[in-house]
Formats: sequence, structure tokens, C-alpha cells
Amino acid sequence: MKNNFSVYLDNAATTCVDKEVFKKMKPFFSEKYANPSGPYWHSQVARGVIDKAREQVSKALNASSGKIVFTSCATESINLSHKGLIEALSKKGDQKPHIVVSSIEHSAVLETCRHLEKLCLVEVSYLPVDKTGLVLISDLEKNIRPNTALVSIMYVNNEVGTIEPISEIGKFLKKINKKRELEKKQKIFFHTDATQAIQYLNIDVNFLGVDFLSFTGHKFYAPKGIGALFVKKDTPLSSQIRGGSQEYGLRAGTENVAFIVGLAEAITLVCSQKKSQAERIKKLSQKFIKEALKIKGLNLTGDKIKRVPHIASFLVDGAEGEAMILLLSDAGISASSGSACTSGSLKPSHVLLAMGVPQEKAHGSLRFSLGKDTTEEQINYTLKVLPEIISKVRALAPKGI
Ligand code: PLP
Repeated sequence: MKNNFSVYLDNAATTCVDKEVFKKMKPFFSEKYANPSGPYWHSQVARGVIDKAREQVSKALNASSGKIVFTSCATESINLSHKGLIEALSKKGDQKPHIVVSSIEHSAVLETCRHLEKLCLVEVSYLPVDKTGLVLISDLEKNIRPNTALVSIMYVNNEVGTIEPISEIGKFLKKINKKRELEKKQKIFFHTDATQAIQYLNIDVNFLGVDFLSFTGHKFYAPKGIGALFVKKDTPLSSQIRGGSQEYGLRAGTENVAFIVGLAEAITLVCSQKKSQAERIKKLSQKFIKEALKIKGLNLTGDKIKRVPHIASFLVDGAEGEAMILLLSDAGISASSGSACTSGSLKPSHVLLAMGVPQEKAHGSLRFSLGKDTTEEQINYTLKVLPEIISKVRALAPKGI
């Protein structure tokens, strides 16, 4: 950073730990630190704290129809649900299970499915999306097979902010499952990765009609290293981390009490402020989007209406995303680009490619994600420096970008 202006616009990557949340976590590091599995009263205190936290998370998700399993992050929750379900089902049937996922899922879902596919344990269908990043139920319907055992569709895409029709998909699968139940056939389980949805959308698991819901705490002001998985009652699931009998025998290892408290406090906090924060952030991001779109050759990515308030994502003609990010950083602004720099080669985002963006255009992606501490002043400053940064990058760009 070459000046003193600090603007953090990458809240979809991670957020700060809320000060009140941190305060609630503190006693569990060096005062109330007993192992929750011990027989004595110190341990009972820790056990009680975990029970209370589980209730808080369960309440936020209206999840009395199932259980909450604490994990280390969304990636772990996703690995547990997908691998754990397939392992549990493989003990039952003789048919290879089929999984349907959208082609714009986070790598946590895509790589887990590819891994299961490589091990020849499953067949996987990757659903297309439309040009705004939306999964169409008609495409899902076409891809359901007699051996389909799991549908996994993210609630909100992390790169473009499009909200997927999760409750509609839940209703659609419920209809199929009713028929399957009468025919005594294997049910189709439904997983959603709700990582980018927790603090802004309806996360009632009954409304959504899901059997699994994964998320990670650090996207909504809990620390990094804690997440959870909702598992509906009677869902077959095999543990993927073996050892002790913690977390209903589904995730062995001594519980991270302080972080579990942090997760529960953060989800309670964001759910209590959902409406007001969503309104405030939407107002800021709408202003940002409206003004940014005045820059020539800059287009919004994702759905115009069905999008979360905190993500403003764009494609910039003739400019390289990584170069814009570096110049924004020099101006004190942290944002991100959909293209990930892997071992020196710039790979365009699989999300944008799936949305039909040509490869050369996909390199020009920019994502700004707002949070509870984003101010109008920061948005104004970003809008002020952005046009010049884009012009500079365009001037340096090789032809063909
Ligand atoms: N799913 C989505 C939609 C995400 O945005 C992320 C984080 O970027 C993850 C999963 C993975 O989260 P974590 O790295 O905390 O496991």
C-alpha cells in the first residue's frame, strides 16, 4: 500500500472477528479451558458451553429436524457430507450412486466430487448454468437418474453473488422423493453450500428443504478454523475423521470450545441484524454498481436481481484482473479477481466460463465484497480511483485481452 487509505473490500474471502464475539470467546482460552470430554466439573462447564452453542446454531437454522456437527470449515463440512453419505450408501446398495452438482460450485464441492469419481465410487453430472449463473430446475430434472443419490447446489455463488433457487429445488426433490418412497427406492439427498448466504438470506433448513447445509464461520465475523454441517435426522452418514466419539461420532477430535463459542455468537449476531445489515449494504453496493457501470467497457456479472447485497462483481473489457487488483492494492484497496494465479499461469474462473464468458474476457474479472464496516466514504474513494486504474491497466494490456 503506497498511501494511508485502507479499504477492505474482500469480505466474501474473509471477515474480521467481531469484537463482541471475540470477547465472548476469550475466557475459553486460558480460564475455562478444560477438555469437554472429562468427568469433572471443569469439563462439565465446557460441555455445557458446547451444548448451548449448538442450540444457538440450531436456532439460527431452525434445525430441530436434525443435528449440527461442528467442523473446522465449510470445506470440511462439504467433505464430510459428500464422502460420508456416499460411504454410508455404499454399504447399502449395489448400484454406483450418482451425484448432481452445478458447474459453478466452490472447489470444495467440485474437487470432492472429482475425487469420488476418480475412485470410481460415484458418477457425477455437472449442471450448466445460464449467463447470469443461475441453475435451471429444467436442467436438474433432465439430469436426474434412477441412481441419483445426492444433489449439491450452492446457495450463493461466491464469485458473482447469484442466489440459486434452493427452496424451489428442495420442493422439486421432495416430489421425486415422495414417489421414490412409495416405490421403496433410495431417496435423493440435498446438500447446499450456504457459505455466502448466512448473514443475508433465509437459512431456515425446512424452508430450504435440505438434508445437509454447510458453512464456515469466518465469512460472518467468527474466526477462521470453525464451521458446521447441518445433517437432517435419519440421513446416512459415515465419519471421515476417526478417533474419539465427539460430535455424535461424526467428527473425532477434541472440540475447539472457544471457536465453537465464536461461531455460535457470530451467527446469533448476524441473524439478529440480518434485515438492517442487508438493507444498509445493499444501498451501498447498489450505489457502487450504478456508478461503476458508468465506466466504459465495464459490465456487471451475475444476476441483476437475484444477488446477495455484499457482492459487486464485474468484467472489465481489455484489462487483466490481477493487474487491476495490484493497482487497487497500491491505492490501499483490497478486492479480488475471479482468476486465480496458479503456479505462474493465469487460469480463468470456471464460474465465468460456465456462464458462457469467453476465455479472453474472463481474465478481466473484478469482485468487490462489502461488510459491516464498509462505509460510504470508502465506496466513494474506490469509485474515484477505479476509472484511472482501469485506464492504466488497459494501456499496458497486450492485445487480445
Ligand atoms: N464455499 C464457498 C461458497 C466459499 O465462498 C468458500 C470460501 O471461500 C468455501 C466454500 C470454503 O470455505 P473454507 O475455506 O472456510 O472452508
